[in-house]
Amino acid sequence: MLESFISHAVINKLHTISNSLLNLVYPNQCLCCDASLDDQQGGDRQGIAQKNGLFCAVCWSKVERLEGAACPRCAEPFPSQAALSHSPGHLCGNCRENPPAFSRAITPYPYEETLARGIQLLKYQRQTRLVKCFVGLLVDELRPIGFDRVIAIPLHVRRLRSREFNQSLLLAKGIARYFNRPLLIDTLLRTKETLPQVGLTRKDRKKNVHHAFHVVKPDTVGGQRLLLIDDVYTTGATLREGAIALIKSGAKEVVVTTLCRMALH
Ligand SMILES: [Zn+2]
Ligand SMILES: [Zn+2]
Repeated sequence: MLESFISHAVINKLHTISNSLLNLVYPNQCLCCDASLDDQQGGDRQGIAQKNGLFCAVCWSKVERLEGAACPRCAEPFPSQAALSHSPGHLCGNCRENPPAFSRAITPYPYEETLARGIQLLKYQRQTRLVKCFVGLLVDELRPIGFDRVIAIPLHVRRLRSREFNQSLLLAKGIARYFNRPLLIDTLLRTKETLPQVGLTRKDRKKNVHHAFHVVKPDTVGGQRLLLIDDVYTTGATLREGAIALIKSGAKEVVVTTLCRMALH
């Protein structure tokens, strides 16, 4: 009797220890607010991220697509529907003055709350579990877009070495796999070591990335419709510059996409 009580207690103890070890590796908590996910698993209303056990219902309910009028070229939100109701092809001031080399930008979610936190966790804490969730959100947006090959905005080799991975490449890999399209790696290179774009003005961002990219295998982009991927769209300077390099090297079309868009105002 005593023996069986001891062994039962030991097993219970071991069970608790192994659970805490598991929780250390994958704590069953919302990545955004730390709420417990134990009573939130399953069910339809919880969306793809929760199916991955990443966010709680409250944080996930804050993930809302950008809706409303936007520039048909770069997707910059317009303050009202007025501009587009008169001419549906009305471009924003920036695209009119400075037409981008890309034909379209798909930037479906605002960079705020849950997804902003998620992107930071992927970028700086290497929470690669998020990639599946982000790719899941993006593929729904990209289904109507025609493209032949997928390419990611590269990091400069020195920055890549210090951070070890390129989060845009992880997204690009997932998207290429989903749509069964070739992923072009080592085609677009960042030849100029640029400052981080954070905190720079629009003008300085443009200057910072000017001539930053070089296409080393032009034959792989020649005549192709390319999907160029980054994580966050801010002024679009980096994607604009990447698209210029690809078009100059013979790409037929470049569509750019990011999961999130940062509000500029
Ligand atoms: Zn939460
Ligand atoms: Zn625009």
